[in-house]
Amino acid sequence: NPFVRARYLLSAHTHRQLPPDGGFEVAFAGRSNAGKSSALNALCQQNALARVSKTPGRTQQLVFFDVTPPVPPEAEPLPTRFLVDLPGYGYAKVPQDLQAHWQAFIDQYFRTREALKGLVVVMDIRHPLRDYDRQMLGYAVERGLPAHALLTKADKFGRGQQSQALMGVKRDLFSAFGDTVSAQTFSGESKQGVDELRAVVAGWLDL
Ligand code: GDP
Repeated sequence: NPFVRARYLLSAHTHRQLPPDGGFEVAFAGRSNAGKSSALNALCQQNALARVSKTPGRTQQLVFFDVTPPVPPEAEPLPTRFLVDLPGYGYAKVPQDLQAHWQAFIDQYFRTREALKGLVVVMDIRHPLRDYDRQMLGYAVERGLPAHALLTKADKFGRGQQSQALMGVKRDLFSAFGDTVSAQTFSGESKQGVDELRAVVAGWLDL
C-alpha cells in the first residue's frame, strides 16, 4: 500500500501558500461528517492522519499529505504525489465572507491546478449527491478530470440496500455528468471497499 507513507506536508489558506504545481495530486471533498477523515485514514492505514484537517482554524484550508515515493540518496527526485484534503463543506456557522473566500479559493484551485488529476467526493451512503457534492463533481467534470463518488458508511446498510443505493447513484451520475464519474460503496469502519479506493487513487497518481 503506497499510502502508508503519507505524511502531513502543509496547509494552504491562500493560492500562494500552495506547494509548487508540478506533480500529481488527488483531492478529497465531502460534507462535514460525511466520513472523509475516516476514509483518508483507512486509505493510508493511519489512525490520526486526517485529524490535522479538523483542528480549529484549519477547516478553511487545503491540507496536503505527501505520498511521493522515496528514491536513493543520489537519484533524481520523483514528481511529487499529494493527497489533498479539501475543507468539509456545509458548516452552517462559517461567516459569509469566509464562505466567499473559500469558494473563490476552491474555484481557482479547480480551474488552474495542473497537478490535480482526480477528485474523490465522500458521501454518506444514506444521503448521497447533495447540492455541494454535485457542485464539486461539476468542477471536476468541467475541467475534464475524472471523479469518484465514495458512498461511505455502507456498514449502515445491508448488502441489498447497498447495491440499490449504488445503482441509483450511478444512474444519477451518468445522466448528470456522463461516464467520467465512477462510484463505489465503502466503509471506514469495516474497511469494505478500501482496495478499490486505493486502486482508483493510485491510478490517478501514477503510483
Ligand atoms: P468528516 O467530517 O467527513 O471527516 O467525517 P469523519 O470521518 O470524522 O466521520 C464523522 C462521523 O462518522 C464520526 O463519528 C465517524 O466515527 C463516523 N463514521 C465515519 N466513517 C464511518 C463508516 O464508514 N461507518 C460508520 N458507521 N461510521 C462512520
